Amino acid sequence: MALRITEALLDEIRRHGARAYPNECCGAMLGVVNGDTKEVRELLSLDNRREGEAARTRFLITADDYRLAEKTAREKELEILGFYHSHPDHPARPSEFDREHAWPWYSYIVVRVARRKDGQAGGEPQEATNWVLAEDRSRFLPEEMRGSAATP
Ligand SMILES: [Zn+2]
Repeated sequence: MALRITEALLDEIRRHGARAYPNECCGAMLGVVNGDTKEVRELLSLDNRREGEAARTRFLITADDYRLAEKTAREKELEILGFYHSHPDHPARPSEFDREHAWPWYSYIVVRVARRKDGQAGGEPQEATNWVLAEDRSRFLPEEMRGSAATP
């Protein structure tokens, strides 16, 4: 499958990552499945439940968060298409920890966030990549990410 997400929503993910820096941010992507394309319609930002140092390198979506995402999606007649999170000062590729906690089918967007050069608070969002778990769950595979406007 492929993931379709507008530039505006992708920017929302980048901004969330910048705000959360030096911690990781995370959230759910809600939308519809249209043929072989997952079309993101909106984002649901979630709190990173990790605390202290751990929040810099890991994110945790609790069962409660997952239920909230499901409920929100259902109320809007959407479904959960995947999850996004940021990697402060780390490459925009999923970690081994991410793989162990990932579910099949969902899209996983990872955005790299770098330290700001001007010393201000927050981070500078960099590239974003999209991944899906291999069928045998042994690794993540890149998943096509299309921009362009979603169909109305
Ligand atoms: Zn990660």
